[in-house]
Amino acid sequence: MALDQVWVFSEEIDDAPSATSLELLTKARTLETTVSVLYLGKRSDTAFAELGAHGASRVLLLSGQTDQLPSAPAAAAICEIVESEMPDLLLFGQAPTARDIAGRVAARLGRSVIANSVDLNTEDGLTVVTEIFGGTQLVATNFTGETPHIVIVRPKSFAADPSDGGAPEVVEVQMPDAGRSSATITERVVEAAEGPQLAEAAVIVTGGRGIGAAESYELIEKAAAPLKAATGATRAIVDAGWVPYAKQVGQTGKTVKPDVYIAAGVSGAMQHLVGMKDSKIIIAINKDPDAPIFGVADLGVIGDVHKVLPKLIEELEKRT
Ligand SMILES: Cc1cc2nc3c(=O)[nH]c(=O)nc-3n(C[C@H](O)[C@H](O)[C@H](O)COP(=O)(O)OP(=O)(O)OC[C@H]3O[C@@H](n4cnc5c(N)ncnc54)[C@H](O)[C@@H]3O)c2cc1C
Repeated sequence: MALDQVWVFSEEIDDAPSATSLELLTKARTLETTVSVLYLGKRSDTAFAELGAHGASRVLLLSGQTDQLPSAPAAAAICEIVESEMPDLLLFGQAPTARDIAGRVAARLGRSVIANSVDLNTEDGLTVVTEIFGGTQLVATNFTGETPHIVIVRPKSFAADPSDGGAPEVVEVQMPDAGRSSATITERVVEAAEGPQLAEAAVIVTGGRGIGAAESYELIEKAAAPLKAATGATRAIVDAGWVPYAKQVGQTGKTVKPDVYIAAGVSGAMQHLVGMKDSKIIIAINKDPDAPIFGVADLGVIGDVHKVLPKLIEELEKRT
């Protein structure tokens, strides 16, 4: 199926286009189509150049941001321009604002959305791939009905790769005032983050309930330090209040794809696996030889984390 126009939604995060939108642009480039970006953020030549480098020939700059939650005005503006240009496909990353806007756009236009997708292709119509049962099964779904089709894609489904694309054309699209009933942002809180971040780290060391207590998370941090690794967590220890939610890997946490993922005291529940199973090398430490984590591990150590991790830390510290 030939797509004439694909539009990728991109949200400004830390003065730059969101990482997921660059991944989506890289994928959109391969669909041999004209790619535009719906950009929710400040006018920035640097951001636009980055979008251009990743394949956008045009940026539709959603301007007129206020202290309102942007989803309602952004969706209204997007629908207006979609109705006049009728692109074939709208791609959104799986993030709170993008998801909210995608849902509003779908409802206003009366189109279906496929969320949680990990791939798409145009070989036989527009096929969208989603994972079920913790990523053990793939489901391919074809859109029927009128375009634009709307797809929400999980982060890290594609690797972002700049091409030699030049500066895109920039067209300002005014967002309407969504009215007094719209939600207003009263405060923004940036979570303090130290050390390597989960999304970018090449190595991640994750602790699960098997570490036994909040204080033992120190073992995870000590193993991570010499490896310059980020530290992760299962939902069990986030829910127990041992570590903040920002560290959670999995279905309701972050999706990661590091070169090396070390899981210590992690059972390997499917909701955890879905967020880390595509790591290049998985090393699991668990005292239960039947723990499901060993089903995805490249290297497994059957043993007590309180014995294995101190030895690993000692060895790593000797080498740094
Ligand atoms: C809707 C939904 C969404 C969810 N989203 C997520 C998510 O995003 N991320 C996530 O992680 N979970 C998620 N979960 C929870 C998930 O189902 C599991 O409950 C959770 O991942 C288990 O965490 P765990 O492996 O730390 O704990 P457990 O399952 O309790 O496993 C602990 C493991 O440690 C081992 N162990 C115990 N003591 C030691 C020791 N001394 N040395 C070595 N090994 C030891 C045990 O053998 C066991 O395998 C979700 C659940 C639901 C229903």
